[in-house]
Amino acid sequence: MRTVEPLHVRLLRLLRDEGAVSRAELGDRLQMPRPRLLAELERLVALGYVAEAGLAASRGGRRSTLVELNPHLRFAAVDLGASSLDVEVVNGRLEPVVAYAEPAEIRSGPKVTLQRVNELLHKAKVDGAYERLDAVGIGVPGPVSFRDGVPVSPPIMPGWDRFPVRELLTREHGCPAVVDNDVNIMAIGERHGGVAHSVDDFLFVKIGTGIGCGIYLSGEVYRGTDGCAGDIGHIQVDPHGPMCSCGNIGCLEALFSGAALAREATAAARSGVSPALAERLTARGAVTAVDVAEGAGEGDVTCIQLIRDGGAAGRQRAGRAGELHQPVDDRDRRRARPARAHPAGRDPQRGLPPVAATGHRQPTGGAVGTRPARRGRRCRRTRQRRGLRGGVMTRETVARQRCPRGHRPVAEPL
Ligand SMILES: [Zn+2]
Repeated sequence: MRTVEPLHVRLLRLLRDEGAVSRAELGDRLQMPRPRLLAELERLVALGYVAEAGLAASRGGRRSTLVELNPHLRFAAVDLGASSLDVEVVNGRLEPVVAYAEPAEIRSGPKVTLQRVNELLHKAKVDGAYERLDAVGIGVPGPVSFRDGVPVSPPIMPGWDRFPVRELLTREHGCPAVVDNDVNIMAIGERHGGVAHSVDDFLFVKIGTGIGCGIYLSGEVYRGTDGCAGDIGHIQVDPHGPMCSCGNIGCLEALFSGAALAREATAAARSGVSPALAERLTARGAVTAVDVAEGAGEGDVTCIQLIRDGGAAGRQRAGRAGELHQPVDDRDRRRARPARAHPAGRDPQRGLPPVAATGHRQPTGGAVGTRPARRGRRCRRTRQRRGLRGGVMTRETVARQRCPRGHRPVAEPL
């Protein structure tokens, strides 16, 4: 039942991103003759992907019919963390139907973990969440070969290297499956419905048990040639630093992951420099990164300092990620340039803004900062002529489309 027609993919993506859209608007958006559009929509309705959703508002003539992704579709989303397992089933409107969350050790290996995933999905079926799944997506906390659907040398996932995750899920559930790095998936979610909704180039940094980074370039996830372009957690920051869970010394994760933050918070609570943390340690017997976040929210200076110190290290490393994970072929080098053009850690005035400063909207989960990569160049003469968004010519655009009158772009950070 899987459709591979490029036109169908465009149609379905548009309905996924926009929700219910009228047939008339679909014709405008896809610039397609109406008879062909109607024929293709009928095919998608017959396949069960698309359903009618009432009448659209009048545009002056006969009211057009709204269409949407069939709400009876069911997709499973699985998030494997280093120490957690989340399974959710959503309908065609991407609304949650059922969700389960439980602690799980990724180190227990792929067979145990994926068996538990399948058990939870089976439970969802028994609970009436679905009759059959239309697709499964799974995020894992490590580098992934997106093409092959397998984890590749994941530092904190012993036994998972090249384990056929996609093949196993496809076979088990009889539907397409997608495997990706968990932070790439969070970045995709952030662009779909979060603070990066209208931004084509950005970094998404996640700090949980580990640290990861999703990279968006020109509106697409950039994975690098080996799938680990955003894997910044195990870059060595301090050769004399603490030992990391991967076995190396002084990784960024060892210095500023949720676990490292908890370790420093415990020391601060015991030494008495932070009343907020000391209070929590007495009450619960332990402090976590969540306590640091809560303490910072209450204005505890030590908690704020812990986050600020670690954030500065994170920004520097995130900025270097594009340099350290070098792509190998020329095409990838060209695509990687915008990422190197805005090293977030080099200019403190232009570093990652706090989440609250990006429009009072909370990200969909885990982000400590999302910044648009918009350092570009303007050419005042070509601004209107090209109609680019906000008159911005990115470096890539400048390289490809120089001003037709030969004006040199004004080097002006935006
Ligand atoms: Zn490490």
